[in-house]
Amino acid sequence: MSTPRVAVLIPAAGTGTRMAGARPGNAATMVRNKTLLPLAGEPLLRHTVRAFHQVAGIAQVRVIAQREDVAELDRIFADRQNWPRLGGWIVGGAERQDSVRLGLAALKKDGDGPPDRVLVHDGARPLCSPGLILRILDALESEAAVVPVLPISDTVRSIAGRGRAGHGRSGGVMDRTGLRLTQTPQGFHWHLLWEAHQEAAAAGAVVTDDGQLVERLGKPVAMVPGERRNLKVTFPEDLDLAEWMHRHPAWGTEPGPL
Ligand code: C5P
Repeated sequence: MSTPRVAVLIPAAGTGTRMAGARPGNAATMVRNKTLLPLAGEPLLRHTVRAFHQVAGIAQVRVIAQREDVAELDRIFADRQNWPRLGGWIVGGAERQDSVRLGLAALKKDGDGPPDRVLVHDGARPLCSPGLILRILDALESEAAVVPVLPISDTVRSIAGRGRAGHGRSGGVMDRTGLRLTQTPQGFHWHLLWEAHQEAAAAGAVVTDDGQLVERLGKPVAMVPGERRNLKVTFPEDLDLAEWMHRHPAWGTEPGPL
């Protein structure tokens, strides 16, 4: 069999509303797109795209962005010769799921047709290691859908509603031994992810995870160990953590238990 063609979609078309708060010592500023914020001296998204230039076997990387950010992205990646795998920008949609579906449609329209395999990775996860990407690619040799997961160390409870004085009312503790946190990159055989997104769009289902769409089809999703390093930059203080991890490249890369 010939080597499968792998494409990576990086959704980076969010509005970063949870980044909107004040950082200590800073005035409250509305951040339109957290993936364009500086991390270790360059926009966060450059780190994310670089991660997919560091392993063999990836044919192209496509960033999905808001239309308003396209000119900024042209500036950020002006040194285009350093990004041989980076293809043209794809304009995203209202929800992450819309952005990914539009990304898949753009890949399908490419001159060579769709790739054999596709990885979907949050633009806001700049520290994903080559080891994690390779784990996903390896698993795709025998599985059609693969997601990286982490065990949960805290106790997990549901919320039943509001208590007195605005306190939350606990709905009880869930058994964390049977639960996992889910990261990206998530990897798929092309046809399965395409079908999953078409089905969800037709049904009007909105989810936050591509693997979940495959499960809606009743198809299995395989899990591999994720990484503590693979933080999704969500709140302003996450940038401080990401800076620290960037200075400590081995921290949090060892695959944990499933
Ligand atoms: O909001 P959240 O952090 O879960 O978003 C995960 C990723 O999806 C981010 O990189 C964000 O830019 C992207 N996204 C997108 N299109 C949207 C919403 C989020 O590409 N409409």
